[in-house]
Amino acid sequence: MHDLIIIGGGPAGVAAGVYAARKRLKTLLVTEEIGGQSVVSDGIENWIGSPKISGVDLAKLFKTHLDAVKGDIVTLAIGERVVSLEKGADGFLVKTKAGKEFAGKAVLIASGAGRRKLGISGADTFENKGVTYCASCDGPLFSGQDVAVIGGGNAGFETALQLLAYAKSVTLIHRHKDFKADPITVEKARAHPNMRIITHAEPIEIMGEQFVIGLKYSDKDSGEIKELAVSGIFAEVGVIPNTEFADGLVEFDAIQRIKVDPHNQRTSVEGIWAAGDATDELYHQNNIAAGDGVKAIEDIYLWIKKN
Ligand SMILES: Cc1cc2nc3c(=O)[nH]c(=O)nc-3n(C[C@H](O)[C@H](O)[C@H](O)COP(=O)(O)OP(=O)(O)OC[C@H]3O[C@@H](n4cnc5c(N)ncnc54)[C@H](O)[C@@H]3O)c2cc1C
Repeated sequence: MHDLIIIGGGPAGVAAGVYAARKRLKTLLVTEEIGGQSVVSDGIENWIGSPKISGVDLAKLFKTHLDAVKGDIVTLAIGERVVSLEKGADGFLVKTKAGKEFAGKAVLIASGAGRRKLGISGADTFENKGVTYCASCDGPLFSGQDVAVIGGGNAGFETALQLLAYAKSVTLIHRHKDFKADPITVEKARAHPNMRIITHAEPIEIMGEQFVIGLKYSDKDSGEIKELAVSGIFAEVGVIPNTEFADGLVEFDAIQRIKVDPHNQRTSVEGIWAAGDATDELYHQNNIAAGDGVKAIEDIYLWIKKN
C-alpha cells in the first residue's frame, strides 16, 4: 500500500513527485511517459527559469529531477496506462492496461489532456495523408509546400511558427475574430512574410484525392464558401482531458474535466486530488500545472498525517 499514487508524468505529476519525495511520502508515479503535452514543442519560452527550452529537453530535466530526489521513496512506473481507478476498503486501487494493480491511500490525478480531433468531413479519411495533429513530428514533410493551421490558440500559433521554418506559406484559419493566443506569439507570426491569417472562418471540409489538396471553409462575414489550396492541414482545435478512468468516481464538469477546489486541488471524493489540464482549472499552462501539483502535495501531506 503506497501513501500516494500519482497518475501522470507531465509538469503536474512530476512537480508532485518531486515534492512527495521531499516530504517522504511513499509514492508510486504511474505514467505513460515523462514530459507531457509540450514535449512536441520546439521552443517553450515561458517555463520559469529558462528563457527557451525544447519540450524534449524539458522532459529530460523532469526525469533528471525525479531521479535525483526519488531515492527509495518514489517509485516510477513509466510506460503504464491507467485504465481504472476504484475506491477500496482502505484506499484506492489503480489498474493499468498491462494488468498491473496498485493500491494507495491517496491518489493524485495529473493525467492532463490530449488533442481534440477535427470533426469535419474528410478529417478522418485524410488523417496522416495531409491532416496532422503534430507540427514537430510532421512539419518537415511539408517543406516548401503551402499549409494551413486550424486554431487560434497558443498551440495554433506555435504550430504556425514552427511550420514557417519549412513551409512555403502558412495560412492560419480561426473561427472567431479575436485570438486566445498570447499577443506576443500572434505578433511574432504576423510579422513573418509567409504568414497569412484568416479570421471569422469556419472550416467545413478537407478536400483531397489520395492526399489533401485543400480546405473548404465558410467566410462567416459574407457566408461565402471558399477554398484554400494546401497540401498539409495542422489541426490545433483544443484538447480532451484524459479522465476516462475516473468516470463515475469523481465529479466532472460538462467537458469531462475533474472539478477541483482551487485552494487545495481536492476533488469531490475524499482521498483523491487532481492537478493540471485534467481539471476544470481556467488556464492551461506548464507552470500552472506544476503549481497545482505542488499545491496538491502540500494538502495530501497534511491529510496523510491526519489519517
Ligand atoms: C503543442 C503544445 C505546446 C504547448 N506549449 C506550451 C508553452 O509553450 N508553455 C506552456 O506553459 N504551456 C504550453 N502548452 C500547454 C502545456 O503543455 C499544458 O498546460 C501542460 O502540459 C499540462 O500539464 P499536465 O501535467 O496537467 O498534463 P500533460 O502535460 O498532459 O501530462 C499528462 C501526463 O499524464 C500521462 N497520462 C495521460 N493519461 C494517462 C493514463 N491513462 N495513464 C497513465 N498516464 C497517463 C501522460 O503520458 C503525461 O505524462 C502546450 C501544449 C501543447 C499541446
